[in-house]
Amino acid sequence: MFIDIHTHLSQYTDDEIPLIVKRWRESGVELVVSSGTTIEDSIKSIELANKYPDIVAGIGLHPSDLTDNWKNDLLELKNMLDENISMISEIGLDYQDFSPNKKVQIRVFEEQIQIAIDNDLPIVFHTRFSMEDSYNVLENFKDHMHGGAVHYFDGNYEEAKKMINLGFKISFAKTLLRNNYLKEVAKKLSIDDIVIETDSYPQYFKKNRERWTEPKDVVLVAKELASIKNLSVELVGERTKENFKSFIKT
Ligand SMILES: [Zn+2]
Repeated sequence: MFIDIHTHLSQYTDDEIPLIVKRWRESGVELVVSSGTTIEDSIKSIELANKYPDIVAGIGLHPSDLTDNWKNDLLELKNMLDENISMISEIGLDYQDFSPNKKVQIRVFEEQIQIAIDNDLPIVFHTRFSMEDSYNVLENFKDHMHGGAVHYFDGNYEEAKKMINLGFKISFAKTLLRNNYLKEVAKKLSIDDIVIETDSYPQYFKKNRERWTEPKDVVLVAKELASIKNLSVELVGERTKENFKSFIKT
């Protein structure tokens, strides 16, 4: 009944994945998106989608993982479009001190938005310290895009509304459980504009394996949203699932 719209499942070891899948099935999670961040990672996401009925794949080049080889990577990405994919993800802009050159990031973001448009695919994208530039890039493609979501949303209400007006859903992760400003944003937004995710990946820095975030934990985000919006967790599960299905190609 719950959908985790953004994870990095492909980055876990092959031994771990069946156990992670088992745990989410036992928790009522019915579909999980594995998003690619590089060419290799995108290939692995497609393999997972082919293997498990409750995994769908995103392919993309993550802004933080761009290399000098980005032109060739874009060509390779285009060669995967006939595969079992449901979205272009993870793409976006990431403006940290050590991030790749901003101009290159913007160019690769634009190219991937265009790939999504040309192939009737939604995008699920990342913005880090880059909300304004992300909005400006996306606005240039307004009226042509096929929706999607701003993943790991960390902005304010006005920023959320601007993205919604471009046709995107707002995706909340576990940060919703601890950040009061995000709770306020979620409270003001309509449930029709919200989807949920874990952004899970192997958290080797956490020594206790049980503390790693996994797709099963998307239920915690749903529970938090239910309490913020005074709805039942079942209803939050159903509505966020409908919101995801409104843009996804399956
Ligand atoms: Zn991610």
